Amino acid sequence: MPKFFIKTYGCQMNERDSEQVAHSLLARGYERAAHETEADVVLLNTCSVRDMAEQKALGKMGMLGQIAKHRPEVVFGFLGCMAQARGDALFAGLPHVDLVVGTQKFHCVADYVEELVARKREVLAAAHDPGHRRMDDPRFSICDTGEEAGSAETIRDHALPDRPATAFVSIMQGCNMHCTFCIVPRTRGAERSRSVEEIVREARELVARGVKEITLLGQIVNLFGRHEFATVKGKSPFVQLLEAVHEIDGLERLRFTSPHPIGFRADLIEALADLPKIAEHIHLPLQSGSNRILKAMHRPYTAEKYRVLVDRIRQARDEIAITTDVIVGFPSEDDEDYAQTRDLVEQIQFDNAFIFRYSTRRDTPAATMGRQVDERVKEVRNKDLLGVVDASAHRANARLVGRDVEILCEGPSRTNAARLMGRTRTNKIVVFEGEPEQIGMIFEVNVRQANGFSLYGTPVMQTSSPVHA
Ligand code: SF4
Repeated sequence: MPKFFIKTYGCQMNERDSEQVAHSLLARGYERAAHETEADVVLLNTCSVRDMAEQKALGKMGMLGQIAKHRPEVVFGFLGCMAQARGDALFAGLPHVDLVVGTQKFHCVADYVEELVARKREVLAAAHDPGHRRMDDPRFSICDTGEEAGSAETIRDHALPDRPATAFVSIMQGCNMHCTFCIVPRTRGAERSRSVEEIVREARELVARGVKEITLLGQIVNLFGRHEFATVKGKSPFVQLLEAVHEIDGLERLRFTSPHPIGFRADLIEALADLPKIAEHIHLPLQSGSNRILKAMHRPYTAEKYRVLVDRIRQARDEIAITTDVIVGFPSEDDEDYAQTRDLVEQIQFDNAFIFRYSTRRDTPAATMGRQVDERVKEVRNKDLLGVVDASAHRANARLVGRDVEILCEGPSRTNAARLMGRTRTNKIVVFEGEPEQIGMIFEVNVRQANGFSLYGTPVMQTSSPVHA
């Protein structure tokens, strides 16, 4: 059977979508290739959030054209957000590309791949026929970027390793918030949520396969179900979902990402206090500490309200880690706006943060706003804010040195395969010397060393006994 290779750009939702595509190909007998050069089908699952992510995928596909020269039978495809945004324009200049599939059609990829593999075989078999069609004949390409009702329910199968410790569950697709810098509402469409029953069924199956930690995924995860389901006794559909997943026996940790500050209401704060399996980490995008810029971004909260929300989250759970996203250099951001962002980031002392230089996305309102900020100014602010964040991340990690922390061992360390890595409940990476049998287990590690990125420690207890009975 043919082999496939998928390279994923961007966020965890893209990782999850790629996993669904991998599952559908494996289910048809395809095998995973360890490297793109060994594959008969090469798919790039793309990201459009920043221009650089699009350029990387385009550059990569350009280089893959070298493979196509020697192996014309290989199928090449773009999937995901950039495919959705650019559609069949992606065929221009890249004649070896056969397939473009948008964000609501991942479940069709295996069918399209099979069709293209068969068509190419047919063409190659007829290669001596003087009337045969060329491989780059547009009739050999497939582009599907249509919308499809119910597509959110099609991301539900998993291609997990033998002893999976963690899994992502996609609970909704799309976003109706229309932040002025963001292309996601265009690439992912309007909000559509899956049913609670389907999500719980999927989570139960994962736990039955040994998964101990589940992360619920959505562009604005805490606004899950707001158009489809009712609030019951003051509890939003998202809190109802958290409670239902929390009840699954054998599940040890529950995470969700990313919530929008606007939907982080009292019922969700109470859930943090009442549901012990929810891990002590919230990724809460801030974007700016200037109310003027927040308004221009169409982020419907103020810096003061964000600050109060952080305090309430911290009061609800001891030692909860809070991370964030910040954009510097949004159109018209001046020194005073940036100073307000810097002050807020300094005050809050995040456990970590992703700092982005504003990147112009075509067809978004911010792209045509006046007073675009010079790239050099963005660079200076980016570097400066990274310094603030690195310092608070170092401080947060240093506080753990000498302490025993609970980790879920996920597998070999990415930087040193001879060591293992796990994550604390606060989502910090811990690297340690261990045995392969420990993968998938929960145990304590004594932290010996820390830097801004990772902790280093020694296991103090080797057991998988549940922390939450
Ligand atoms: S909330 Fe804003 S930044 Fe997040 S996906 Fe929606 S539009 Fe984009």
